[in-house]
Amino acid sequence: MLKKIDHIGIAVHDLDETSKFYRDVLGMELQGVDEVKNQKVKVAFFKIGETNIELVMPTSEDSAVAKYLEKKGEGIHHICYATDDIEAEIQNMKAHGARMIDESPRLGAHGAKVAFIHPKSSKGVLTELSQKK
Ligand code: ZN
Repeated sequence: MLKKIDHIGIAVHDLDETSKFYRDVLGMELQGVDEVKNQKVKVAFFKIGETNIELVMPTSEDSAVAKYLEKKGEGIHHICYATDDIEAEIQNMKAHGARMIDESPRLGAHGAKVAFIHPKSSKGVLTELSQKK
């Protein structure tokens, strides 16, 4: 079962520049910065209540996020839901016809296990599942 919105991912060109907006204008607290090598991105997390905003910046031209920025520009990139059992969740979603980008979990930011559902299965919303370490 999905428990809550873990975070909302926002694609950005410049992590430092955008972080200033979230910190200074919106007054949110930076929780941490991490590099996710298998996705070729660097991320910054800002906590807001029970959830987080995740700023996502590509570290390479061939990152999926770089391609997203090129096509659509900066903005909301994905929604991530927290779960306690990501393997079961993936099987359940596949059983209900969802097309997964990740058929099995991979390593996300801060050691979480993550998997993405293809946006064609979710009305254009890239959807991430995350199980905290
Ligand atoms: Zn995310």
